[in-house]
Amino acid sequence: MLTGEVRTRVEDIEKQFSVSEEFLKKAVTFFIECADKGLKVKNDPEALLMIPTFVTSIPTGKEKGVLLAIDLGGTNFRVVSVALNGDHTFDLVQAKNPIPVDLMKGTSDELFRWMAEKIHDFVKENHSNAVESGNRLKMGFTFSFPIDQTSLDSGTLTRWSKHFNIPDCIGKDVVKLLQYHLDALKVPVVVSALANDTVGTLLARSYTGADKEGKTKIGCIFGTGTNGAYEEDLDNITKLPQSIRNELKAKGVRKMVINTEWGSFDNKLRVLPNTKWDEQVDKLSPNPGFHLFEKRVSGMFMGEILRQILLDLYREGLILQQYRTEDKLPHRLRTAWDLDTEAMSLFEIDDSTDLKASELKLEQMLRLPTTVEERVVIQRLTRAIAHRSSSLAAVPISAILLKSHALDGHNVNVDVGADGSVVEFYPGFRTMMRDAIAQTQLGPKGERRLHVNIAKDGSSVGAALCALSSEF
Ligand code: ADP
Repeated sequence: MLTGEVRTRVEDIEKQFSVSEEFLKKAVTFFIECADKGLKVKNDPEALLMIPTFVTSIPTGKEKGVLLAIDLGGTNFRVVSVALNGDHTFDLVQAKNPIPVDLMKGTSDELFRWMAEKIHDFVKENHSNAVESGNRLKMGFTFSFPIDQTSLDSGTLTRWSKHFNIPDCIGKDVVKLLQYHLDALKVPVVVSALANDTVGTLLARSYTGADKEGKTKIGCIFGTGTNGAYEEDLDNITKLPQSIRNELKAKGVRKMVINTEWGSFDNKLRVLPNTKWDEQVDKLSPNPGFHLFEKRVSGMFMGEILRQILLDLYREGLILQQYRTEDKLPHRLRTAWDLDTEAMSLFEIDDSTDLKASELKLEQMLRLPTTVEERVVIQRLTRAIAHRSSSLAAVPISAILLKSHALDGHNVNVDVGADGSVVEFYPGFRTMMRDAIAQTQLGPKGERRLHVNIAKDGSSVGAALCALSSEF
């Protein structure tokens, strides 16, 4: 359908976004190396962060109780009350609060005070008896940013990611900060566990999964950002001080959940594909040079990569030439982060005549009128970006399963719990990811024994389970 120069250019871009089998195998090997190094040493820029979470057991599905959970993600702040029924099921009430953009770049007191107020409102509305009796509810706190965790209920922020940047918060204990503001407002809640959304996803899927598809070996997120967690032998986590390991072993602990922070895989770009547009997106981001894997995979970045390429094609005189100068392009196309990855879901599967559905979406979302040819360009670029994203997603999953010998043995099946809008809603994301897994060292046989399931409400239920985890 495309002709001439435009076609050649689009093919060239598609080539730059293609991911080979050879690359996938090399990346998996390198991931294992970085993960192993991260279990041994702290502060090595080549290693993965591999954060010990102090979650030392995995739920069985028989747990019971009413708990609170909060989740400070990339876009929303959720407050949730979870009733665990003890039979793999749960009931959930939740309030979703969009995080005001100015709070993402203000002070820690402003952000944590706002969170405490939202929790206060929620508890008054849903747990009035706790307010009257003064009985404190346990709460798990999902804080999806890199933290240095020192116990189940304390951890200091190492750095921000996504759209957040509150410098005075770095190095502070986020549990203490929140508890301080809760106490100041006399909210009957105790923050009992600091959870990461991936850890939560792992626990939630372990609770709800009925083992038919194997034990849950990985919890992962593909939403605004991307990350994963798994259970590691305590003996392998040699960067944990020997005294702590001995103390845990004396209590019978053998394993601990590790938050890999795989969004930061290969920040030195030893193996990851790197296009001009990846570099542009990285420069525009709040944390240039960090989270380079995430910037090629997750929802916050895919739309922006597409926007960058479209701008370049315009500058090269290949599309949107009805706009004489760049400052005449629709404002939203000129504004960073304004092309939402959600729209790419529609471009990906648009099979309407002349891509009319995409035409409408582009007009609504970007105020951008397009020709059929331009929409074909957009669809092909969308597919190239998403295909690379989902193929890269195969790397950490395959690497962790290989590294932990999860698929060793006859007829062993394993479950991977996944959460996040990209993996849940992007058409074909899971299938493309599985195709790439089959090309790694796991091969098609390994891939067939792997089940990727969406952990619905994973991070909320998981955080509640974290708050209980000392009692499993
Ligand atoms: P969070 O990670 O912030 O907790 P989500 O899991 O909902 O929240 O992820 C939000 C990200 O997912 C945003 O970057 C958004 O652009 C993207 N997104 C939302 N819906 C879709 C969709 N249908 N297809 C692809 N990406 C989506």
